[in-house]
This record gives sequence, C-alpha cells and structure tokens, in this order.
Amino acid sequence: MKSTTVRERLEEHINTIQLIDTHEHVPDERVPCSRKLGLFDFFQHYVSSDLVSSGMSREALESMRNPDNGLSLEQRWALLAPHWPYVRMTGYGRALLEYMSDLFGIEDITEDTYLELCRRINEARQPGWYRKVLKEKAGIDLALVITWPGQSVEVDREFFRAVPILDHYAIPGTRAELANLEKQSDRAIQTLDQLMAAQEETLDRFVSQGIVAVKLFLAYRRTLFFDRVSKSEAARVFDRVWLSQTQDLSFADLKPLQDFMTRRLIGLAVERGLPIQVHTGLQEGNGNYIENSRPTLMTNLFMEFSDAKFDVFHAGYPYTGEVAVLAKYFQNVYANLCWVHAISPRTAARTLDEWIETIPANKILGVGGDSNYAEGAYGHCKIARRVTGDVLVRKVEEGYLKESEALWFADRLLRENARALYKL
Ligand SMILES: [Zn+2]
Repeated sequence: MKSTTVRERLEEHINTIQLIDTHEHVPDERVPCSRKLGLFDFFQHYVSSDLVSSGMSREALESMRNPDNGLSLEQRWALLAPHWPYVRMTGYGRALLEYMSDLFGIEDITEDTYLELCRRINEARQPGWYRKVLKEKAGIDLALVITWPGQSVEVDREFFRAVPILDHYAIPGTRAELANLEKQSDRAIQTLDQLMAAQEETLDRFVSQGIVAVKLFLAYRRTLFFDRVSKSEAARVFDRVWLSQTQDLSFADLKPLQDFMTRRLIGLAVERGLPIQVHTGLQEGNGNYIENSRPTLMTNLFMEFSDAKFDVFHAGYPYTGEVAVLAKYFQNVYANLCWVHAISPRTAARTLDEWIETIPANKILGVGGDSNYAEGAYGHCKIARRVTGDVLVRKVEEGYLKESEALWFADRLLRENARALYKL
C-alpha cells in the first residue's frame, strides 16, 4: 500500500466534506443568467471596495459596473485597468483571480485576456450553472442566503435556505418610512402596538415559509449596543416618528425605539427556536465606523437572552480575539469565520488556530462565502477548505491534535456544527 502523509490524508478528507455554507447573498440563478457584463458583473462588492480605497472614483466604478449605461466592454476595461494592479494582491483580488481561473480557465486578468474571459463567463451562465458551480465544484450541500426587506424568502431549496433581515421594523425614522412598512406588511401601522404586530406577523409568515434564522444587519448604520428600554419610552419615540414628515429626528432620538424593536425581534426569534445571525466587524463598502460593529457591545444581550443562539459573523474582524472570549464566556454565543477567508486567508488561519485552543469545538462555524455570486461562493469555500487543511495539518504536526481529532473537527467545522445550530 502506498504510504501517505498527514497532509494528504487530511486534505483528501476535507475536500470530500459536503459543506453547510452559513452565509451567502447568491440570488436566484435566473439573475446571473440574464446578465451580460462578463467580468464586470463581479464588481458589485469586495474588489470594488478595494478599488475605491486605491483611488478609483465612485463615478468611474459605477460606470464600469452599471449594466444599463450602454458602455462597451472595452470602455469598462479602460476604467478598471489603471487600478487593477493595486487591488489584485488583496484577499479579494486573489479570490477573484482564483475562481476566474478555476471556473473559466483564464489564468490572469489582463488587457489580453479580459475579452475572452467575458465571453466565457457569459457563455457559461446558463440554467444548470448553479448545480455545476455550487454542488459539483464547490461541494456545498446547502447555503444559508440573506433576503433583504421586501424580498421573498422563498428560495430554491435544492441549494438554499433563507435568513431574512428584519431590521426595517426597528429603524423607521419618518412617516414616509412607516408608510413603506405598511405597504410591505399590508396592514396599518399607526401605533407601536401595530408596529410590533406587523413585525411578529411578518416573522411568522417567514417561519411558515421555511426560514432557518434571522439576521441583524444594524452594525452597518449604528452601534451594536442595545439599551433595555421600556415600552412606554419606545411608544413616545414611535409617536414622534409618526408626526415627523422629514428626517428631523437624530439617532439619539430614535435609538430607544430601535433598541426596543431589536430586542423584541431577538425575543421572538428565541420563542420560535431561530438562531440570530449578527453582522459584526468589518462593514463591506468604504467609509464606516468600525467601532459600531464591535462584538463586545452586545455583551448585555448575551447575558439577558440566555436562551438565544447568537451566531457572531465575520469573526468580528478585526476583533477576532474578543469573539474568542465571548464564545468562551457564553453558552449562547457561536463564532463564525464567514467572509474572513476572502478578506485575508492568513487572518482566517491565525484566527482558526487561536479559536481551536480557546472555543469549544461545537461552537466554531468555519465556512460562508458572503458572496453575491455563485462563483464567489465557490472561491471562498475553496479557500476555506485550504485554510482549514493548513491549520489542522500544523496542529497535528505540532502534536497539539491527534490526526483522528483533526479529522473529526474538520467535519464539525465545515458541516456538523452548522447542521446542529440551524437544525438542517
Ligand atoms: Zn453578508
């Protein structure tokens, strides 16, 4: 029998695990199949943010990626080319290069290759593409996808389970925004009680349609510290919102209502046995307050909602050590590496290494691409398998783990922990 190394055995095992991908934004397959931008469709996020921080103007970015402005592929390339050398080395740039090469057989993105790459992308994106990319190539058994306010939670159950964002019941700031909510929920919302009823009714409808969790997305726009607020105080703020025709209420004015409604959503999720996914750490895009998304801001919630299950996303990057402490302190806190493999593979590896030593093995979730594209999900999952393999091989070679423990943990990390948490 041919002798094999620890690396070969671990990698072979990790490559066969059918992943539960805990976080994606991949739309229905019909969306990419109807697009004809080729490479330029892959700048909706991530690399686009690095392009802006490298100096590309927002106007140029919008022109490059807007499918409806009639620009030719050559004109789009002319906008991208000056900045591409600066972003191709970041984690986002590397991930893009890797999945373009794997899925479309073009090794590099250059003046000489981009047109052929665009042609191959447009040709490949046909019905059946998701089965090939998500199932056959990426080995994803199921991916949890975010649905936005107003969007249906009915997703293609061959590939996906939905996790809705319900923040919009917490953040109305004007009468017009309340009117929008009324339209979406098809009921009158003129009092706090009616707002609460609409929130609960929407959640219950979504539960009957098969959602597996709810998502808190608020760290993009405010602090993750949620005060305990009385109903009467929240009702007073609601009444001010009801009376306000313009955006004249400040965040300080609105915060009690936001805090009250967010805590209520957590309570409703607990009653229905739904985990709560929380965006923490780096906010996608350019220009934000990183300290708003600090995971330790939620400590009071972790203490008060002891029956909740909080899935703390993105390793709280850059607050990865804080997430380790929180998951160590609290039974109801889970630590999730989604997106981090694409932000920085080395950070993902360092973090996973530290978490293995600090967090119980049932509470670490190891994979989620956080991508708007099936191709990106594939790329991020591939990097996650590689990082996991590298870390576990090192842990075995150093004598910290036995090989049998590393094999067992790989299954927990990439599949079984998510299956247990989300009852899949
Ligand atoms: Zn996301």
